[in-house]
Amino acid sequence: MDYKDLANVIYPNAKSIEYYEEMYKPRNLPQGAEVTRFAPSPTGFVHIGGLYQCIINRAIAKQTGGVFFLRIEDTDQKRKIENGVEQIIDALRKFDFVPDEGMISENESKGDYGPYKQSQRREIYDAFAKYLIEQGRAYPCFATPEEIEEIRKKQEAAGLRTGFYGVWAKYRNLPVDEAIERIKNGESFVIRLRSNGREDRKIKVKDSVRGHIEFPENDQDAVLIKADGLPVYHFAHVVDDHLMRTTLVVRGEEWISSTPLHIELFQAFGFKPPKYAQVPNILKMEDGKKRKISKRKDPEAAVDYYHEEGIPSDAVNEYLMNIINSSFEGWRRANPNKDMSEFKFELSKMGVSGAVFDMVKLLDVSKNVIAKYSARQVYDYVNAWAKQYDEELAKMLENEEYALKVLGIERENSKKPRKDLSKWSEVKENIIYMYEEPTNYDFDKISGEDAKKVIEEYSKVYDYNNDKQTWFDKIKDVAEKLGYAREVKEYKAEPEKWPGHVGDVSTVIRVVLTGRRNTPDMYEIMQVLGKDEVEKRLQNFIA
Ligand code: GLU
Repeated sequence: MDYKDLANVIYPNAKSIEYYEEMYKPRNLPQGAEVTRFAPSPTGFVHIGGLYQCIINRAIAKQTGGVFFLRIEDTDQKRKIENGVEQIIDALRKFDFVPDEGMISENESKGDYGPYKQSQRREIYDAFAKYLIEQGRAYPCFATPEEIEEIRKKQEAAGLRTGFYGVWAKYRNLPVDEAIERIKNGESFVIRLRSNGREDRKIKVKDSVRGHIEFPENDQDAVLIKADGLPVYHFAHVVDDHLMRTTLVVRGEEWISSTPLHIELFQAFGFKPPKYAQVPNILKMEDGKKRKISKRKDPEAAVDYYHEEGIPSDAVNEYLMNIINSSFEGWRRANPNKDMSEFKFELSKMGVSGAVFDMVKLLDVSKNVIAKYSARQVYDYVNAWAKQYDEELAKMLENEEYALKVLGIERENSKKPRKDLSKWSEVKENIIYMYEEPTNYDFDKISGEDAKKVIEEYSKVYDYNNDKQTWFDKIKDVAEKLGYAREVKEYKAEPEKWPGHVGDVSTVIRVVLTGRRNTPDMYEIMQVLGKDEVEKRLQNFIA
């Protein structure tokens, strides 16, 4: 009996790996084209770090004329949730990530390199596991949990590395006959790599972010196939990324220490490994210290958060690009109106120490992004957001013609578009006075009595049909008539001479009409409010 017999007992029906090699031919892509992928587990949650990886994946695939695909890694049956794939696809779609290939719904995919869901690839894994057993590079291991525990305890007591390696790999040298007999008796087993590595030898791995990293070789007989017959990540990654012809694996830095094992697996099959870009984690500042952004503690770790808050996906993508690649900020300054996809992304320009996530900065980026939108764009985004999250706002927006005017104030036709919005959840508060008459007036320096005089005078001269210049001249006239400085300059020269200046007078009008001392352009606001509404508000205040 030899390894071939053993392989046949475990996988009697598996096909040969040549069959799959033939089926998934190398891709026909131009020189230099990179094939990248996003490979999340369907746990009901897309982490902001996942989005960050998608941005990199897509940018590189796009700029090299390659392919970016979505693979679902669902071999951990315990972590899987209902509709988990759909949720991932949905979350990505909200951020404009529609991969070129891969899963497109819970059970459907597009592309010639599928199935793109690991749970549907079992027969492929069987074939590849069988091959390694035939080659003597993998073997069944029958260690029970108790045995594993015992080995660990002994290693710890002796101050040794834990795991299955060297003399500790208990079933590594089990005679084939005995292994077959145990299998036939129905004993539970996993498949382990028979590692050829030695801890005292070094290998150099190239990481596209960090450059060359030296590691001890892998010498662990790592588990490749679990007792349920499904592969662990290490094995699935090697098989999938080989057969899907991935050229660049962008993944979290937590995988760096596993690369020696992955390299050994690629070598065991005789395949060329892909390039690796192990990207740093997104960090958060807490009490002056950096820590990993955490799914448990930080709501902003989940990409759904941004959608719920109404932070536009363009802003999130743009902000992430900012923290991914330090040269982006300068590029954006030089090219304020270009699409982000025109920026040439380079892995080698990424920082290695982890990007600190800063909500204030994100909202700042968002203000700039929103400032470039047309009233129509703002309306469509806000309206979609409101329909999902804020009924009252959705109602306000029902009169589309009016809402477009409200949202258009100091926007498209303005030399300096307003930058007072960073998310859709702020819109209601931001425009409420265009829908509701204020009931609270706070004039700061001016007394209620004096304010009343201002409004009485102003309502005598207000005319909806005045142009902006005339409108402003009238406010100046009112100021002068009531003894305020007509020009701010005059006031500044002799402040003791006046009770205030034209600015104070217009503040009174602003507060009476909007309830606020700060708003966008008053003339535009009054034109949008309309004659009747302005007059009504002025009169109601006087009364
Ligand atoms: N499913 C793995 C993860 O979510 C994928 C890592 C990889 O991209 O290879 O971490």
